[in-house]
Amino acid sequence: MNVSCSSSGMVPVSTLGTPRIGLRRELKAALESYWSGKIDQAALLDIAARLRAANWARQKALGVTNIPSNDFSLYDHVLDTAVMVGAIPEAYGWTDGPVPLDTYFAMARGSQGDAVCEHGHAHVHGEGVPALEMTKWFDTNYHYMVPEFVAGQRFTLASSKAVDEYREAKVLGYDTRPVLLGPVTFLRLGKAKDTGLDPLSLLGDLLPVYVETLRRLSASGAEWVQMDEPCLVTDLDDAARAALREAYGFFAHALPKLKIMLTSYFGGLGDNLDTALALPVAGLHLDLARAPEQLAEVSTKARAGLALSLGVIDGRNVWRADLSKLLAALEPVVRKRGTDHVEIAPSCSLLHVPIDLAQETALDPDVKSWLAFAVQKMEELTTLATAVSGHRQAVADKLAASSAAAEARRMSLKVHNPAVAERLAAVTPEMVRRASPFAERVRVQRERLRVPTFPTTTIGSFPQTPEVRKARAAHGRGEVSDAAYDAFLREETAATIRWQEEIGLDVLVHGEFERNDMVQYFGEQLEGFAFTRHGWVQSYGSRYVRPPVLFGDVARPQPMTVEWWRYAQSITRRPMKGMLTGPVTILNWSFVRDDVPRSLACRQIALAIRDEVTDLEAAGAMMIQIDEAAIREGLPLRRADWDAYLGWAVESFRLCAAGVRDATQIHTHMCYSEFNDIIAAIGAMDADVISIETSRSKMELLDAFVSYRYPNEIGPGVYDIHSPRVPTVDEIAELLAKATRLLAPEQIWVNPDCGLKTRKWEEVRPALINMVAAANRLRGDLAQAAE
Ligand code: GLN
Ligand code: ZN
Repeated sequence: MNVSCSSSGMVPVSTLGTPRIGLRRELKAALESYWSGKIDQAALLDIAARLRAANWARQKALGVTNIPSNDFSLYDHVLDTAVMVGAIPEAYGWTDGPVPLDTYFAMARGSQGDAVCEHGHAHVHGEGVPALEMTKWFDTNYHYMVPEFVAGQRFTLASSKAVDEYREAKVLGYDTRPVLLGPVTFLRLGKAKDTGLDPLSLLGDLLPVYVETLRRLSASGAEWVQMDEPCLVTDLDDAARAALREAYGFFAHALPKLKIMLTSYFGGLGDNLDTALALPVAGLHLDLARAPEQLAEVSTKARAGLALSLGVIDGRNVWRADLSKLLAALEPVVRKRGTDHVEIAPSCSLLHVPIDLAQETALDPDVKSWLAFAVQKMEELTTLATAVSGHRQAVADKLAASSAAAEARRMSLKVHNPAVAERLAAVTPEMVRRASPFAERVRVQRERLRVPTFPTTTIGSFPQTPEVRKARAAHGRGEVSDAAYDAFLREETAATIRWQEEIGLDVLVHGEFERNDMVQYFGEQLEGFAFTRHGWVQSYGSRYVRPPVLFGDVARPQPMTVEWWRYAQSITRRPMKGMLTGPVTILNWSFVRDDVPRSLACRQIALAIRDEVTDLEAAGAMMIQIDEAAIREGLPLRRADWDAYLGWAVESFRLCAAGVRDATQIHTHMCYSEFNDIIAAIGAMDADVISIETSRSKMELLDAFVSYRYPNEIGPGVYDIHSPRVPTVDEIAELLAKATRLLAPEQIWVNPDCGLKTRKWEEVRPALINMVAAANRLRGDLAQAAE
């Protein structure tokens, strides 16, 4: 053995963090039982402790050497951090001492429980303290609670969770490496409640609280601590870099013996590389799945004593790795730095992948053989570590199996469909352009559609009542026949259409009762997608999603929505919108294949949706809505990459939408409201009508459209569907009046902020009746003004 001082000469294996939710979503069940009063706090905490113990045992059994602790969370690790440092807004009524569990959950869900929409915006209305805001964790589909800071913010150690869980593991026989969210990323993720306050200015007050936790960890026996600073892969200014130097300099000074593994993930260090390498830490973790190219530079520049954690196994996706390929990249680094200064790791915490592929007994066996979930990824990590430590022979069969699976996937006809490649190659510039510009289209459309000024409509879904969900579940279990289920759905649809007519909506929808989820519904009907039974990943708190797995070329074997549309239109004389999910949203909410660029996968989906669009048109649809709820979510972390993404995202939307005649009106819908920095791309999508979320901002969020002089039609949401509250006619009319001062009246549509599926009929009925009344009032005002 050469210079290695680690006892075994084996390269250590880390996971950086594991899924918290349990193999069978035990955490969700426990949380919901606790919130509804069915179990008490002790029972909840007991289940949580068992989940942690199972996680530790599993990692140990699979050969993980750096087992993390404090990666578990009852709700969210950013919230845990806020609680650790006592950043608890006054409204929650905490003053000192340990933070009660119910205060923690009040921050997460509001003091009356949550009213959270499916995309993770938390809103609580009426009495009680609202939840903290929630937003996307970097570019993942995990959402964290946004910490709040005020001027003169004080920090104090208010939770011993990190230390408790370290000790808990120790008692069970695991010497773990605790994980903390680093102070700089923590501050940058938070929000200043007072204008002019820069959260980073609070760093000096925050660091002693971190040091206190680190000191206790160290005193309890921790040799290493993992500090997550994913902000290292984002655009940082000098102040942020200085903050990193200050923080890690402070830690090194206060605790010279404690070793910090500083983790960057979700991308390359890029222009932050020199900053990261100069920090006085014992180790640096690199995301080599997203940014493999940084390895060469880092391994030449890193000082000899710095341990490099090589994140080669993709922690963000579900594909099995080609281990021999990875080994070829790892071997020279290990040779150069020695087995004691290298670790093998996933690119990021395994939080973002499902737990165990072995549970997927119904998956296509070929597709299954190409996948790896958290457990399988841990096996891959130990195989790599064994091989790279000079014991290649011991894992020769595993390496061979991995290469064979990679080769089979590369060659499979399930993945590669020559017809799709041909179609894609035949896409012409005309296909991504409507025949005429909007100014001309709008004339033909108005002529044909004859909707009044301020046309009223909804976004697509109507309440998914318990009866609808029950019927779907029963049908799924085979307890209800196809025919009976179909009859039930038709009855729901017909009743909803009759009701829309009755209250006087101008443009109708069928209600989407047949859809489980706006992406899954289409994925299930397209070639190239697979679905798991237990492949849940945490979206936020107790909300988990089961993303489709996009594994192959996408094709549409047959129409997906045309029959439902035809039925719906057949029972009304008013225009019925066709209702589709757009390609970018389908892509962004799936696990996407890693053997072709995302842009190419997106274009394939676009072609499939294009076929659906033209089939709907041929069936007689005059208006087709293509929802792109997730375009903004897909924005890359680095500004420099935005244009490339927006370029192909917009092109994909146009490809799916532009196959129709001028007279066919294309609608799109987006579930958010921050358009300022992407408004040019939204304009370039060239939808005839776009509906957006504006009610809570009182139309302020229309600004982007106004200053851009957005020429097409817009439906600024006038009903906050995230709230059970019913808006009054006056309120809605006032919002609309505001919109008319910002936009031309003939540009404006009247609609809610989003689909109504999470609301109850008792709320939806009066709200939409008021919406129609408000539109009528405005029409009256307009007519009067014209006289
Ligand atoms: N048409 C969908 C619905 O109404 C749109 C939802 C969304 O974009 N999130 O539910
Ligand atoms: Zn929406």
